[in-house]
Formats: sequence, C-alpha cells, structure tokens
Amino acid sequence: MLKFKLRKFVLRLIIKNMSITGFSSRLLEEAVNEFSSLPGIGKKTALRLVMHLLRKDTSEVERFGESIIRLKKEIHYCIICHNVSDKEVCEICSDKSRDHQAVCVVENIRDVIAVENTSQYRGIYHVLGGIISPMDGIGPSDLKIASLEKKVSEGTVNEVILALSTTMEGDTTNFYIYRKLIPFEIKITTLSRGVAIGDELEYTDEITLGRSILNRTLFDTPDI
Ligand SMILES: [Zn+2]
Repeated sequence: MLKFKLRKFVLRLIIKNMSITGFSSRLLEEAVNEFSSLPGIGKKTALRLVMHLLRKDTSEVERFGESIIRLKKEIHYCIICHNVSDKEVCEICSDKSRDHQAVCVVENIRDVIAVENTSQYRGIYHVLGGIISPMDGIGPSDLKIASLEKKVSEGTVNEVILALSTTMEGDTTNFYIYRKLIPFEIKITTLSRGVAIGDELEYTDEITLGRSILNRTLFDTPDI
C-alpha cells in the first residue's frame, strides 16, 4: 500500500515537473521559462500566466513589466533597519511617533509586514536577512547582526524583541544574538510561545503545551 502511494506521489511529481514541449513560438517558450523560474510556479502555471498577459492590452502589460524593472532598479534597503524602502531611510524608521527604543528583530521583510499587520507594535525593526543555518551554509557573518550590535551599543535602545521562527535555526540565532547583546544590559525579550488561538488542547503537542503552562498569564477579559 505504502509502495503504491509512493509510486503515485513520484509519478505526480514527474508529471508536475514535466516540461511542456511543442511551443509554436520561441517568444512564448522564453516567457514561460522565465515565469517558471519563479518559486512555486510550474510550467503549466507559467503558461497560464503568460496566456493571461497575452490577452491583456499592450499598455497594461507594459505597466506590469515596467513596475518590475523599476522595483529592481530603484528599490533601496533602509540604512538603519535593512527593510525595503523607496528612500535611504524607510518610512518606519523615519516615523517620529514610533518608539525608537524598542527594536523588533525579524528574519526577513515578510515578517515586518506580518508584525505590522497586527497593528499591535509601535517600535522599529531590524531585518537580519535570514537566520543562522549551518546546513545551508549561513553563518552569523552572513546576517545583519553586527549592525544590530552597533545600534544597541549606541545606547538609544532599551529593548530588543527577538521575533524569529520557533525552529532550531531560529533558536540558535536567538541565542547567538542574546549572547552578543548581554554586555549592553538592555531588556531582551522573545515572542511568547504557546497554544495558538483556535487550537484544541488535546491536539497540541507536548512542547507547545508545556511552554504554555510555564508561560501562563493572568486571566484577562477578552475584547469582545
Ligand atoms: Zn528602516
């Protein structure tokens, strides 16, 4: 049974990655190849996207192409937090109403967006550009850790929030940064880890449930 399932899975994988042949146009084939080089896009999806663009007005397709070229040519990385920005210093770092004494350390730009979408955080960020992962050949020197250390050493930061993934690599990175920042005697916090909203207790794994018991909080009336 297992063998059958495995064979079915491999077959499906082969079909998924099978190259489409028989293009009647070299231009079409090139466009499909470019789209399928994007993450998560297979040849069939690439073909569907290209056909969709072909059906659009020329002006719309030009706008689409130009926005990608402009993005690549004109995008900046904030000199303070390394977030993407239209200027040298991003909008978050230039916002005087935010708390510049709290720095939330995240792995990438997507995590900045995720935290911002909660509307619960008014501090600034520090984008590491990855996490320590020896398996992928990523060491501390490949990440923006030295600039975080420098920022903290200037004495304007009083809390660093480590908001990294709860994976082994995330924990390793947390620990590495923690050790680097310890001499500065600032508050170092991490995101609380526990039972997710909507989770049923009996299906929660022991590590998560154990942490939830240890990090229990005072009962608070929910905002309903
Ligand atoms: Zn910034």
